Amino acid sequence: MIVCDQKSTLYSLVAKTITSEVIEKKIITIDPIKGIIVSVYSEQSPEFSLIYQEAKKARALVEYPDHIWLFAAFGDVHIHAREDVSGLHLYKEDFQSVTDASYNGGLLFACDMPNNPVAPIDDETYLAKYRLSMRVPFALLPYAGIGPKTSPLSFLVPYKAYMGHSVGDLFFTDSPSLDLALERYRQQYVSFHCEDPDILERHKNESDHFARRPIQAEFEATRFALKLIEKYELKGKLCHYSSGDGLELIVEAKKRGLDVETEVTPQHLYFSEEEILALDDKMRQTQFQMNPPIRNRYNRELLLKALSEGHIDYLATDHAPHSPAEKLKGMSGLTGLDSFGAFTTWLMLTKNIDPKIIAKVAAENPGEFYNRFHRAWLKDSPYQKVQGLGLGKIEKGYSASFTLLDTTQPQSISKEFLKTKALDNPFLYQTFPGSVFRIYFNGREL
Ligand SMILES: [Zn+2]
Repeated sequence: MIVCDQKSTLYSLVAKTITSEVIEKKIITIDPIKGIIVSVYSEQSPEFSLIYQEAKKARALVEYPDHIWLFAAFGDVHIHAREDVSGLHLYKEDFQSVTDASYNGGLLFACDMPNNPVAPIDDETYLAKYRLSMRVPFALLPYAGIGPKTSPLSFLVPYKAYMGHSVGDLFFTDSPSLDLALERYRQQYVSFHCEDPDILERHKNESDHFARRPIQAEFEATRFALKLIEKYELKGKLCHYSSGDGLELIVEAKKRGLDVETEVTPQHLYFSEEEILALDDKMRQTQFQMNPPIRNRYNRELLLKALSEGHIDYLATDHAPHSPAEKLKGMSGLTGLDSFGAFTTWLMLTKNIDPKIIAKVAAENPGEFYNRFHRAWLKDSPYQKVQGLGLGKIEKGYSASFTLLDTTQPQSISKEFLKTKALDNPFLYQTFPGSVFRIYFNGREL
């Protein structure tokens, strides 16, 4: 697609460019050898026409019509890629299928959760997992797990703490033991799965998944997580947030100066408990089972409102693939990578969420989350995959990685469309108003 003069290595993209601050046509000049952005000028600036003419003369210009929207690379700060040194969960997903599904959804990087059979919990196990991801051209940053007996790694990584049951030893059955463990993680980046283990225990014999994992469990766990974030000066992130009322606690904590951020999943913004319970097919109901569960309409509307008002920091899928047989047995976890980009067009074109907010929650904030680890050690390590200053910004010196959406070409989510090994997606049979048009990674169109 790129018309490029053999002698010239630089090329320029002209497109309607969306950042958290402004939506305007820009000319972005790229060095594909270094993989970085060389310059960015808006249509209003005097440099625009000069560079445009030069690039055109050099046959190094790619111009997109206005219905194609260019964002910095989309990234997902919460996925379960399933691959680890044990290989026990490769039937669910692996780094290659995660790469394929991510590209399909317009995602260029992701952060991978640690609840593997061999969990990354120290330098050695963390880097062993990292090495496995080196064979794919996709920037995967693992989280390290926090368990009752673990300690921080010797270099800066994101951590995940599970409140409530998950896989292996990476969970705390009671709150005081989590408190005790986090004392060792003072000032670290810690993400929380917020469901209070005591409340879950009291409801474990209820008749359906919604009742077994009530919203009070999330509300109480939020209070506790915020207390720990304050007590140990953590840089906290609350995962896949689903409780509308709980958001008030978070907004208030942010106002008090706490370093806390929030993720929300596409499925919590789109579906409701009422809709799932109304499905005739009970088997189809179990397909929607995840933790925390999809909540009722009231909560969904509060989550959408919070997103539109700028209180949500990350749109994150919590992509958690299982085999079809496991899903039928009622195993919790939904996929989401394949549908990510198309879903954002539903938010913007159907729910009128400002595209600048999408730039923030799907590109800039995930980029900044990744960049701090990139800056701290990744960029100078053998595990480096992202060029320049990092991801998430359309500015000189940053990686020339972009997600382009077509706002006029609808996307139906069919089985044939999916690249995840799970061959499942909560949005199966739905059609979104737009689609992923093209992706660029480190200056190259993929
Ligand atoms: Zn998860």
